[in-house]
Amino acid sequence: MLQPLTTSTIRVFVLEDNPGDLHLLRAMLSDVDPDDYSVTAADCLADALDLLPDGQFDLILSDLNVPDSRGLDTFRALHDRAPGVPVILITGLHDESSALEAVALGAQDYLVKDGLSTDALVRAIRYAIGRNHAEQERRQLVAILEATTDVVWTASPSGRLRFLNGAGRRLFGIDAQEDVSRVRLEDYYPSWTATLMQEEAIPSAIRDGIWLGETAVLARGEAECPMSQMVIAHRSPAGGLLYLSGIARDISERKRTEAHLAHLAHYDPVTGLPNRDLFRDRLNLAMHRATRHGTLLAVLFIDLDNFKDINDSLGHSAGDDLLRQVGMRLGECLRSEDTVARLGGDEFTVLIEDLESFERLQVVLDKLLTELSRSLKVADTEVFVTASIGATLYPIGDADADTLLKQADAAMYQAKSSGRNNYQFYSHELQLRIEHRLMLATDLRRAIGRGEFHLEYQPQVDVRTGQVRCVEALLRWNHPREGMISPSIFIPIAEETGQIASIGEWVLQEACSQCREWRAAGIPHARVAVNISARQFRLTNLAETIRAALDTSGLPADALELEITEGLMMENIAASRAVLRELQAMGVEFAVDDFGTGYSSLAYLKDLPLSHLKIDRSFVRDLPGDANSVAIARSILAMSHHLGLSVIAEGVERQAQFRFLLAERCDAVQGFLLAAPLRAAEAEALLRNGVRLPDAD
Ligand code: C2E
Ligand code: MG
Ligand code: MG
Repeated sequence: MLQPLTTSTIRVFVLEDNPGDLHLLRAMLSDVDPDDYSVTAADCLADALDLLPDGQFDLILSDLNVPDSRGLDTFRALHDRAPGVPVILITGLHDESSALEAVALGAQDYLVKDGLSTDALVRAIRYAIGRNHAEQERRQLVAILEATTDVVWTASPSGRLRFLNGAGRRLFGIDAQEDVSRVRLEDYYPSWTATLMQEEAIPSAIRDGIWLGETAVLARGEAECPMSQMVIAHRSPAGGLLYLSGIARDISERKRTEAHLAHLAHYDPVTGLPNRDLFRDRLNLAMHRATRHGTLLAVLFIDLDNFKDINDSLGHSAGDDLLRQVGMRLGECLRSEDTVARLGGDEFTVLIEDLESFERLQVVLDKLLTELSRSLKVADTEVFVTASIGATLYPIGDADADTLLKQADAAMYQAKSSGRNNYQFYSHELQLRIEHRLMLATDLRRAIGRGEFHLEYQPQVDVRTGQVRCVEALLRWNHPREGMISPSIFIPIAEETGQIASIGEWVLQEACSQCREWRAAGIPHARVAVNISARQFRLTNLAETIRAALDTSGLPADALELEITEGLMMENIAASRAVLRELQAMGVEFAVDDFGTGYSSLAYLKDLPLSHLKIDRSFVRDLPGDANSVAIARSILAMSHHLGLSVIAEGVERQAQFRFLLAERCDAVQGFLLAAPLRAAEAEALLRNGVRLPDAD
């Protein structure tokens, strides 16, 4: 195909020693259109070489044999002198083989003198110039592609690689000689990029023409290198997919900068510790977790006692060094999941999550004080720092994140004013509560051995017959100095310290033995309900413990009911379901305790092997006067019955409540109105004879 040429005059250089032939060529070219061609000529190679580099020529026409050069040497000399200018050889018939060789070496074409027509000459010239032009352009483009630092590739519609530029080969570690069609790009992608390319980038490019996104390559088959990548689908004018191309740029530097900026926004530049913002974020999250899982967290505010002196006497850089070392020491005293942050100056904060107990917190605080007071070396000087620490707890001291920080800060001031180098808890009351809990936790350890526990039994009464369907075992602790302590105080402590495992076992054994005794004493329908706490569920092999209690006591499994709070069941439906099913298979029944206080829906509960549901006291309290309580109680009753659960109302204290529940077809009631928690002997009488029900109207 002839390239349309835009230049008005084609400048031809002719090397021809035969004046006749030269004349003929000139004549032919002026024949076409005198303005189209300008001809410069030489009759020997030496003259030609002199003229060539000066002139700007579009084409060389050359004889192979001139007085000072013969054959291929003539072509080589011209080509070396003007490498970008296309050469057409004019040869005699006998020279055709040399001409062919010259074409192989880079000549554009050759023409045989004898019988050469103007038409053939002009065609050859135009074609040679056009081709040369295209070739030059292609070379330029390739040079650009090879020089760019972006990775450029093309691939067939089926994804086979056709071209990969120098940057790509260098990045992947592929030799220039290697045949790229054997290279599978997927091998150089981390799997997520391979999937992204396959499932999103290529299909989107085919659909929309272009796709832009972030990918990565395994540079030299190893490290992941982030790349911003563009994939383009190239189509024929008819619309068929011709090939795909991609341009990818290494963005690791940008990523590093971004990460660095993010780091600067969240971390303290001196110590590398989280700053106030990040600390607050983490604290907020931790508070959510603590609320959800019923765990405890502590916030500490730490202020160095004598930082200013050191900073003033040893200088700022020594001061910075000291802060770094203090930060590290703090970290060493804590678990990796705890957060140490620097708020500024010599103030640090610490967030301790999942605190098992107060003892544990005290251990940590003692350790912090000891570790901080060990000598440090800064600016070749041995220095001593001490710290004042304020502590507050969540959710014991209920508050938001900022308030917790303020509380810890206030406690830190308290520590400063009580002589420094010590720690204080926020508020005297909190301090007292904490000390009290610590004491109880210690005493609790000895309670079983000293026989300080006993059980009371509260009847659950059938609303229609007054029969006691079951008695709920409620744990009582008779503390040697404090007297009776409510289970709602000591059960959470037992949970925190892990003692709930042995205490729970004791309750099960005791309740089962007692019930077995009642049955032996002629009350065959005696049944007992035992409360199981969340931590007990998680800490122990519940099925094992219960089997042991039943075996030791000789109580049949269907005489035992377990009360479990809804929160606990919701926490891990899958795990609880397995344990519950195992026990259910033995004959043990389950009741959801305190229903309505958690956030479960009946829909979830229907997946669990439950038999009974206890409406929490808080919904019974205002029955039947309060419209909301009435609506809630009614809907719990309707839905439970629909799911085949029997309903027990807790905390029934007044006749009006009883009558309402009877009318609404509640199955059983429990509360002071019918019977308070009783000693075993008193409970036995009610088990035997039933309870006198209030009048129905
Ligand atoms: P709970 O399982 O909801 O037990 C019912 C609580 O309501 C008992 O409190 C009981 O004395 C009280 N109560 C019963 N009738 C009435 C009433 O008419 N009005 C009012 N205001 N209260 C009534 P208690 O004995 O203080 O137990 C508190 C919680 O401690 C129990 O709530 C239970 O969750 C837990 N608990 C008790 N014993 C054990 C035990 O052996 N193991 C475990 N894990 N938890 C236990
Ligand atoms: Mg209960
Ligand atoms: Mg309850």
